[in-house]
Amino acid sequence: MSCFEKMDGLGHEELIFCRMREAGLRAIIAIHDTTLGPSLGGTRMWPYPSEGEAITDALRLARGMTYKAAAAGLNMGGGKAVIMGDPKKDKSEALFRAFGRFIETLKGRFITGEDVGVDVNDVEYMFMETRYVTGLSRAHGGGGDPAPVTAFGVLQGIRACTEERLNTPELKNVGVAVQGLGNVGFHLAKLLKNEGARIVACDTDPEKARYAKATLDIEVVKPEEIYDVEADIFAPCALGAVVNDKTLERMKFKVIAGAANNQLEEDRHGLELYRRNILYAPDYVINAGGMVNVYVELEGYDRERAMRMSRGIYYNLRKVFQIAKRERISTNLAADKLVEERIATMHHLKGIYTGQQSSRFHWEHRGGSSH
Ligand code: NAD
Repeated sequence: MSCFEKMDGLGHEELIFCRMREAGLRAIIAIHDTTLGPSLGGTRMWPYPSEGEAITDALRLARGMTYKAAAAGLNMGGGKAVIMGDPKKDKSEALFRAFGRFIETLKGRFITGEDVGVDVNDVEYMFMETRYVTGLSRAHGGGGDPAPVTAFGVLQGIRACTEERLNTPELKNVGVAVQGLGNVGFHLAKLLKNEGARIVACDTDPEKARYAKATLDIEVVKPEEIYDVEADIFAPCALGAVVNDKTLERMKFKVIAGAANNQLEEDRHGLELYRRNILYAPDYVINAGGMVNVYVELEGYDRERAMRMSRGIYYNLRKVFQIAKRERISTNLAADKLVEERIATMHHLKGIYTGQQSSRFHWEHRGGSSH
């Protein structure tokens, strides 16, 4: 399949190749849809076995960002960059600064930050060459670690779920199985604990599990046991594809609501959850707190504001559940519908002429044009 065919398949606007041989830079930027605003998406560094796989990943991830931004109600589009290389061996100042210069040429059409294989130090090299980066450290005026905001957003989403499924936004004595006690999972477990929830958690890293058990006073089980736990809610906060044919057979949860990206192994698992009457909070709607955090940074970082905006996740999920009920569809499809409707409406809205003068109009009006 050609690049243009791949772009047409997912509805992309632009695909950009960036090369600086001396710095070993081979990067691809995919811009999916900028109807709502400039494209936002992290830069991933990964030892892709082939160019084709890097392109496919960039296109897929960029589209995901359009959906996440639109569902969060942000005026941003979706994009993503991938750097072909091994983050353990191939990083250098020149590589990230060269990439920063390419981003600068896009004049804000693409804004980027950290992703898998790219950390805050790498982003700071890019920042030397371009303003169009976000997710900087606090020391550089950025928002720092987004995980507490993501966890707070997930908590708001869980409330929307319990209201829908358990008829109460209260979390006291509600059983929650938290999978993964990393940056987001630990913060989420702490917030849930403060709300009086009953938590059973796990992590493949025994040190993280031990630390959470000791500091939060929560029950910890072995990672493979988490799907069988008797709890109302399953909160995946580790990996993707945890909702699959095998795990579905074991789950007795009423709700699935957590931070992990790409929780459904395939879209059809969303329908399977619907059939089993397990309420699923679509991942890209409930985990948008991290994106909200970098968005707020673009306007001058303020954690209070990031937290306040993340409360919106509660309302966004209520809207998703309403659509799902009205149309009798699974919640993952309802979320896609919410996004596609918002983008289509905003597209029409931008067709209204607001009277702002374009530079050409302005120029001609003053009689300055010699053409
Ligand atoms: P993290 O790496 O800090 O934490 C993940 C934790 O999961 C680690 O402690 C790891 O040991 C554990 N883990 C891995 N495999 C496991 C398994 N099979 N069972 C149990 N535990 C396992 O990552 P994070 O920043 O906390 O992010 C968690 C998830 O949320 C990821 O899917 C990430 O993409 C997503 N997410 C994170 C943010 C954010 O702000 N950090 C925002 C949106 C989405």
